[in-house]
Amino acid sequence: MTDRCNLRCFYCMPAEGIKYLPKKELLTFEEIERLIMLLASMGISKIRLTGGEPFVRNDLMKLIRRIVEIPGIRDLHITTNGILTAPHIPELKKLGIASVNLSLDTLDKEKFKVITLRDEFESTYKTLNLLLEHEIPVKINAVVMDGKNIDDILPLVALTKNQNVSVRFIEEMPFNGEGSHYPKLAWTYKKILEHIQSQHPDIHKIPDPENSTSANYRIPGYKGDIGIIAAFSRTFCGTCNRIRVTAQGTLKTCLYDDGVMNIRDLMRSGNSDEEVKTKLLSAFNSRPANGFEAEEKRNDHHKAHESMSTIGG
Ligand code: SAM
Repeated sequence: MTDRCNLRCFYCMPAEGIKYLPKKELLTFEEIERLIMLLASMGISKIRLTGGEPFVRNDLMKLIRRIVEIPGIRDLHITTNGILTAPHIPELKKLGIASVNLSLDTLDKEKFKVITLRDEFESTYKTLNLLLEHEIPVKINAVVMDGKNIDDILPLVALTKNQNVSVRFIEEMPFNGEGSHYPKLAWTYKKILEHIQSQHPDIHKIPDPENSTSANYRIPGYKGDIGIIAAFSRTFCGTCNRIRVTAQGTLKTCLYDDGVMNIRDLMRSGNSDEEVKTKLLSAFNSRPANGFEAEEKRNDHHKAHESMSTIGG
Protein backbone atom coordinates (compact mmCIF):
# COMPACT_ATOMS: atom_id res chain seq x y z
CA MET A 1 0.00 0.00 0.00
CA THR A 2 2.82 2.38 0.85
CA ASP A 3 6.44 2.33 1.98
CA ARG A 4 5.59 4.84 4.74
CA CYS A 5 5.29 3.78 8.34
CA ASN A 6 4.46 5.42 11.65
CA LEU A 7 6.91 3.20 13.57
CA ARG A 8 10.69 2.81 13.31
CA CYS A 9 11.11 -0.82 14.35
CA PHE A 10 14.73 -1.72 15.00
CA TYR A 11 14.61 -4.74 12.67
CA CYS A 12 12.87 -2.93 9.81
CA MET A 13 14.17 0.62 9.38
CA PRO A 14 17.08 2.79 10.44
CA ALA A 15 16.11 5.26 13.21
CA GLU A 16 16.32 8.17 10.77
CA GLY A 17 13.84 6.43 8.47
CA ILE A 18 14.18 5.69 4.75
CA LYS A 19 13.76 7.90 1.71
CA TYR A 20 10.05 7.57 0.92
CA LEU A 21 8.72 7.25 -2.61
CA PRO A 22 7.05 10.30 -4.17
CA LYS A 23 3.29 9.82 -4.43
CA LYS A 24 3.25 9.60 -8.23
CA GLU A 25 5.41 6.49 -8.04
CA LEU A 26 2.81 4.58 -6.04
CA LEU A 27 0.27 2.35 -7.72
CA THR A 28 -3.02 4.25 -7.72
CA PHE A 29 -6.16 2.63 -6.28
CA GLU A 30 -7.41 2.17 -9.87
CA GLU A 31 -4.17 0.37 -10.80
CA ILE A 32 -4.33 -1.82 -7.70
CA GLU A 33 -7.95 -2.71 -8.45
CA ARG A 34 -7.11 -3.56 -12.07
CA LEU A 35 -4.17 -5.69 -10.99
CA ILE A 36 -6.24 -7.61 -8.44
CA MET A 37 -8.94 -8.22 -11.06
CA LEU A 38 -6.30 -9.62 -13.43
CA LEU A 39 -4.79 -11.80 -10.71
CA ALA A 40 -8.25 -13.03 -9.69
CA SER A 41 -8.96 -14.00 -13.30
CA MET A 42 -5.72 -16.04 -13.19
CA GLY A 43 -6.88 -17.97 -10.12
CA ILE A 44 -5.50 -15.94 -7.22
CA SER A 45 -8.11 -15.83 -4.47
CA LYS A 46 -6.19 -14.56 -1.45
CA ILE A 47 -4.86 -11.01 -1.09
CA ARG A 48 -2.95 -9.42 1.77
CA LEU A 49 -2.63 -5.66 2.14
CA THR A 50 0.54 -4.60 3.89
CA GLY A 51 3.26 -1.95 3.68
CA GLY A 52 4.76 0.24 5.28
CA GLU A 53 1.72 0.73 7.41
CA PRO A 54 -1.36 0.21 5.21
CA PHE A 55 -3.56 2.52 7.33
CA VAL A 56 -1.12 5.40 6.76
CA ARG A 57 -2.35 5.46 3.14
CA ASN A 58 -5.26 7.91 2.77
CA ASP A 59 -8.67 6.36 2.22
CA LEU A 60 -7.48 2.77 2.54
CA MET A 61 -11.01 1.71 3.49
CA LYS A 62 -12.26 3.00 0.13
CA LEU A 63 -9.96 0.55 -1.63
CA ILE A 64 -10.87 -2.30 0.73
CA ARG A 65 -14.58 -1.78 -0.03
CA ARG A 66 -13.74 -2.18 -3.73
CA ILE A 67 -11.46 -5.20 -3.35
CA VAL A 68 -14.03 -7.27 -1.44
CA GLU A 69 -16.40 -6.86 -4.40
CA ILE A 70 -13.94 -8.30 -6.95
CA PRO A 71 -15.22 -11.67 -8.22
CA GLY A 72 -12.83 -14.49 -7.28
CA ILE A 73 -11.29 -12.75 -4.27
CA ARG A 74 -12.27 -15.04 -1.43
CA ASP A 75 -9.96 -13.90 1.36
CA LEU A 76 -8.71 -10.43 2.12
CA HIS A 77 -6.13 -10.13 4.89
CA ILE A 78 -4.31 -7.12 6.33
CA THR A 79 -0.99 -6.82 8.15
CA THR A 80 -0.88 -3.77 10.41
CA ASN A 81 0.86 -2.36 13.45
CA GLY A 82 -2.57 -1.49 14.84
CA ILE A 83 -1.93 2.18 15.62
CA LEU A 84 -4.55 3.64 13.25
CA THR A 85 -6.62 0.48 12.85
CA ALA A 86 -9.13 0.51 15.73
CA PRO A 87 -11.76 2.89 14.27
CA HIS A 88 -12.07 0.68 11.17
CA ILE A 89 -12.58 -2.64 12.93
CA PRO A 90 -16.41 -2.69 12.92
CA GLU A 91 -16.44 -2.00 9.16
CA LEU A 92 -13.68 -4.55 8.49
CA LYS A 93 -15.85 -7.11 10.26
CA LYS A 94 -18.88 -6.11 8.19
CA LEU A 95 -16.87 -6.39 4.97
CA GLY A 96 -15.87 -9.95 5.93
CA ILE A 97 -12.13 -9.48 6.37
CA ALA A 98 -10.55 -12.96 6.64
CA SER A 99 -7.89 -12.11 9.24
CA VAL A 100 -5.63 -9.42 10.59
CA ASN A 101 -1.94 -9.92 11.31
CA LEU A 102 -0.97 -7.55 14.10
CA SER A 103 2.69 -6.80 14.74
CA LEU A 104 3.49 -6.90 18.43
CA ASP A 105 6.97 -7.88 19.60
CA THR A 106 6.51 -7.32 23.33
CA LEU A 107 3.78 -6.85 25.93
CA ASP A 108 5.94 -4.35 27.80
CA LYS A 109 5.11 -0.71 27.08
CA GLU A 110 8.66 0.51 27.71
CA LYS A 111 10.25 -2.18 25.58
CA PHE A 112 7.76 -1.43 22.80
CA LYS A 113 9.11 2.11 22.80
CA VAL A 114 12.71 0.90 22.62
CA ILE A 115 11.98 -1.49 19.73
CA THR A 116 9.70 0.78 17.67
CA LEU A 117 11.01 4.22 18.74
CA ARG A 118 7.39 5.32 19.26
CA ASP A 119 5.23 5.36 22.40
CA GLU A 120 2.27 3.54 20.84
CA PHE A 121 1.88 0.30 22.80
CA GLU A 122 -1.58 1.26 24.09
CA SER A 123 -2.97 1.82 20.57
CA THR A 124 -1.71 -1.52 19.31
CA TYR A 125 -2.98 -3.34 22.39
CA LYS A 126 -6.38 -1.67 22.07
CA THR A 127 -6.57 -2.88 18.47
CA LEU A 128 -5.73 -6.42 19.59
CA ASN A 129 -8.58 -6.41 22.09
CA LEU A 130 -11.06 -4.89 19.64
CA LEU A 131 -10.18 -7.48 16.98
CA LEU A 132 -10.76 -10.26 19.51
CA GLU A 133 -14.02 -8.66 20.63
CA HIS A 134 -15.23 -8.52 17.03
CA GLU A 135 -14.13 -12.13 16.52
CA ILE A 136 -11.88 -11.25 13.61
CA PRO A 137 -9.19 -13.96 13.38
CA VAL A 138 -5.94 -12.42 14.68
CA LYS A 139 -2.37 -13.50 14.26
CA ILE A 140 0.25 -11.65 16.28
CA ASN A 141 3.57 -11.29 14.46
CA ALA A 142 6.55 -11.09 16.82
CA VAL A 143 10.07 -10.82 15.41
CA VAL A 144 12.56 -12.54 17.71
CA MET A 145 15.52 -10.24 18.28
CA ASP A 146 18.62 -11.39 20.07
CA GLY A 147 19.19 -9.26 23.18
CA LYS A 148 15.97 -7.30 22.67
CA ASN A 149 12.80 -9.30 23.28
CA ILE A 150 13.80 -12.83 24.30
CA ASP A 151 12.12 -12.28 27.70
CA ASP A 152 8.90 -11.57 25.81
CA ILE A 153 8.62 -14.95 24.10
CA LEU A 154 6.95 -16.74 27.04
CA PRO A 155 4.54 -13.88 27.94
CA LEU A 156 3.46 -13.82 24.27
CA VAL A 157 2.98 -17.61 24.37
CA ALA A 158 0.86 -17.11 27.52
CA LEU A 159 -1.56 -14.93 25.51
CA THR A 160 -2.69 -18.11 23.73
CA LYS A 161 -3.93 -19.62 27.01
CA ASN A 162 -7.26 -17.81 27.24
CA GLN A 163 -7.49 -16.06 23.88
CA ASN A 164 -8.22 -17.56 20.52
CA VAL A 165 -5.18 -15.92 19.00
CA SER A 166 -2.29 -17.23 16.96
CA VAL A 167 1.10 -15.92 18.08
CA ARG A 168 3.77 -16.29 15.42
CA PHE A 169 7.45 -15.92 16.16
CA ILE A 170 9.47 -14.80 13.14
CA GLU A 171 13.20 -15.25 12.66
CA GLU A 172 14.77 -11.83 12.21
CA MET A 173 15.72 -11.23 8.59
CA PRO A 174 18.29 -8.68 7.33
CA PHE A 175 15.55 -6.43 5.84
CA ASN A 176 16.29 -3.36 7.95
CA GLY A 177 17.56 -0.85 5.39
CA GLU A 178 21.18 -1.64 6.23
CA GLY A 179 21.79 -5.40 6.20
CA SER A 180 22.32 -8.07 8.81
CA HIS A 181 22.58 -7.05 12.47
CA TYR A 182 24.47 -10.28 13.27
CA PRO A 183 27.37 -12.34 11.91
CA LYS A 184 25.16 -15.42 12.48
CA LEU A 185 21.48 -15.63 13.44
CA ALA A 186 21.30 -16.89 17.05
CA TRP A 187 17.52 -17.15 17.42
CA THR A 188 16.70 -19.65 14.70
CA TYR A 189 13.35 -21.44 14.49
CA LYS A 190 14.91 -24.40 16.31
CA LYS A 191 16.12 -22.28 19.21
CA ILE A 192 12.78 -20.47 19.48
CA LEU A 193 10.97 -23.81 19.72
CA GLU A 194 13.45 -25.20 22.28
CA HIS A 195 13.00 -22.06 24.38
CA ILE A 196 9.21 -22.51 24.43
CA GLN A 197 9.59 -26.27 25.07
CA SER A 198 11.77 -25.60 28.11
CA GLN A 199 8.74 -24.01 29.80
CA HIS A 200 6.05 -26.04 28.01
CA PRO A 201 7.40 -29.56 27.40
CA ASP A 202 3.90 -30.71 26.34
CA ILE A 203 3.67 -28.27 23.40
CA HIS A 204 2.79 -30.32 20.31
CA LYS A 205 2.73 -29.94 16.56
CA ILE A 206 -0.63 -29.30 14.91
CA PRO A 207 -1.33 -29.56 11.16
CA ASP A 208 -0.14 -26.59 9.12
CA PRO A 209 -2.58 -24.98 6.68
CA GLU A 210 -1.75 -25.58 3.02
CA ASN A 211 1.17 -23.41 1.81
CA SER A 212 1.75 -22.15 5.33
CA THR A 213 5.05 -20.44 6.06
CA SER A 214 4.67 -21.14 9.78
CA ALA A 215 5.16 -24.45 11.60
CA ASN A 216 2.28 -24.55 14.06
CA TYR A 217 2.01 -25.79 17.63
CA ARG A 218 -0.42 -25.85 20.54
CA ILE A 219 -0.11 -26.24 24.28
CA PRO A 220 -2.75 -28.69 25.58
CA GLY A 221 -5.75 -26.84 27.02
CA TYR A 222 -4.77 -23.52 25.45
CA LYS A 223 -7.30 -21.76 23.21
CA GLY A 224 -4.87 -20.24 20.73
CA ASP A 225 -1.87 -21.58 18.88
CA ILE A 226 1.75 -20.77 18.23
CA GLY A 227 3.52 -20.49 14.90
CA ILE A 228 7.23 -20.33 14.19
CA ILE A 229 8.33 -18.83 10.88
CA ALA A 230 11.79 -19.82 9.63
CA ALA A 231 11.96 -16.67 7.53
CA PHE A 232 15.74 -16.48 7.57
CA SER A 233 16.45 -20.24 7.51
CA ARG A 234 13.97 -20.51 4.62
CA THR A 235 12.73 -24.04 5.29
CA PHE A 236 9.33 -23.54 3.64
CA CYS A 237 10.28 -22.34 0.15
CA GLY A 238 9.17 -25.58 -1.52
CA THR A 239 5.51 -24.97 -0.68
CA CYS A 240 5.44 -21.16 -0.78
CA ASN A 241 3.06 -19.87 -3.45
CA ARG A 242 3.15 -16.16 -2.61
CA ILE A 243 3.90 -13.29 -4.90
CA ARG A 244 4.43 -9.74 -3.68
CA VAL A 245 3.78 -6.41 -5.36
CA THR A 246 5.45 -3.41 -3.78
CA ALA A 247 3.80 0.01 -3.45
CA GLN A 248 5.55 1.11 -6.65
CA GLY A 249 4.38 -1.96 -8.55
CA THR A 250 7.51 -4.09 -8.45
CA LEU A 251 6.69 -7.79 -8.69
CA LYS A 252 8.63 -10.05 -6.36
CA THR A 253 8.27 -13.81 -6.74
CA CYS A 254 10.36 -14.30 -3.58
CA LEU A 255 10.86 -12.12 -0.52
CA TYR A 256 14.61 -12.30 -1.10
CA ASP A 257 14.68 -11.20 -4.76
CA ASP A 258 14.94 -7.50 -5.59
CA GLY A 259 12.13 -7.46 -8.13
CA VAL A 260 11.55 -9.33 -11.36
CA MET A 261 9.51 -6.72 -13.24
CA ASN A 262 7.49 -3.54 -12.76
CA ILE A 263 3.76 -3.99 -13.24
CA ARG A 264 2.96 -0.28 -12.83
CA ASP A 265 5.15 0.57 -15.82
CA LEU A 266 3.53 -2.20 -17.88
CA MET A 267 0.10 -0.84 -17.08
CA ARG A 268 1.06 2.82 -17.55
CA SER A 269 2.57 2.10 -20.96
CA GLY A 270 -0.76 0.94 -22.33
CA ASN A 271 -0.45 -2.85 -22.24
CA SER A 272 -3.77 -4.67 -22.54
CA ASP A 273 -5.04 -6.94 -19.76
CA GLU A 274 -4.03 -10.00 -21.81
CA GLU A 275 -0.51 -8.61 -22.35
CA VAL A 276 -0.05 -7.90 -18.63
CA LYS A 277 -1.34 -11.39 -17.75
CA THR A 278 1.06 -13.06 -20.19
CA LYS A 279 4.02 -11.24 -18.63
CA LEU A 280 2.84 -12.07 -15.11
CA LEU A 281 2.50 -15.73 -15.98
CA SER A 282 5.95 -15.84 -17.47
CA ALA A 283 7.38 -14.30 -14.26
CA PHE A 284 5.47 -16.80 -12.08
CA ASN A 285 6.85 -19.65 -14.16
CA SER A 286 10.42 -18.47 -13.55
CA ARG A 287 10.22 -18.41 -9.76
CA PRO A 288 13.50 -19.28 -8.05
CA ALA A 289 13.63 -22.65 -6.30
CA ASN A 290 14.11 -21.03 -2.90
CA GLY A 291 15.06 -17.85 -1.07
CA PHE A 292 18.78 -18.62 -1.25
CA GLU A 293 18.70 -18.83 -5.04
CA ALA A 294 16.59 -15.65 -5.19
CA GLU A 295 19.12 -13.79 -3.04
CA GLU A 296 21.99 -15.12 -5.14
CA LYS A 297 20.34 -13.87 -8.36
CA ARG A 298 19.48 -10.33 -7.18
CA ASN A 299 19.96 -7.67 -9.85
CA ASP A 300 21.78 -5.40 -7.38
CA HIS A 301 24.31 -8.18 -6.59
CA HIS A 302 23.99 -7.40 -2.88
CA LYS A 303 22.65 -9.51 -0.05
CA ALA A 304 19.10 -8.67 1.09
CA HIS A 305 19.28 -5.40 3.01
CA GLU A 306 16.36 -3.11 2.03
CA SER A 307 13.77 -2.05 4.60
CA MET A 308 10.87 -4.45 4.97
CA SER A 309 8.71 -1.33 4.86
CA THR A 310 9.34 -1.29 1.11
CA ILE A 311 8.40 -4.98 0.75
CA GLY A 312 5.57 -5.75 3.13
CA GLY A 313 6.78 -8.75 5.09
N1 SAM B 1 3.29 -1.94 9.22
C1 SAM B 1 2.66 -3.23 9.20
C2 SAM B 1 3.02 -4.02 10.43
O1 SAM B 1 3.80 -3.54 11.25
O2 SAM B 1 2.50 -5.11 10.58
C3 SAM B 1 2.90 -4.04 7.94
C4 SAM B 1 4.26 -4.05 7.35
S1 SAM B 1 5.50 -4.85 8.28
C5 SAM B 1 6.91 -4.61 7.25
C6 SAM B 1 5.07 -6.54 8.05
C7 SAM B 1 5.72 -7.53 8.95
O3 SAM B 1 7.09 -7.62 8.62
C8 SAM B 1 5.64 -7.19 10.42
O4 SAM B 1 5.00 -8.20 11.12
C9 SAM B 1 7.08 -7.07 10.83
O5 SAM B 1 7.28 -7.51 12.11
C10 SAM B 1 7.79 -7.92 9.80
N2 SAM B 1 9.20 -7.56 9.63
C11 SAM B 1 9.69 -6.34 9.32
N3 SAM B 1 11.05 -6.37 9.26
C12 SAM B 1 11.40 -7.64 9.54
C13 SAM B 1 12.66 -8.29 9.64
N4 SAM B 1 13.80 -7.65 9.45
N5 SAM B 1 12.67 -9.61 9.95
C14 SAM B 1 11.51 -10.27 10.15
N6 SAM B 1 10.29 -9.70 10.06
C15 SAM B 1 10.23 -8.40 9.77
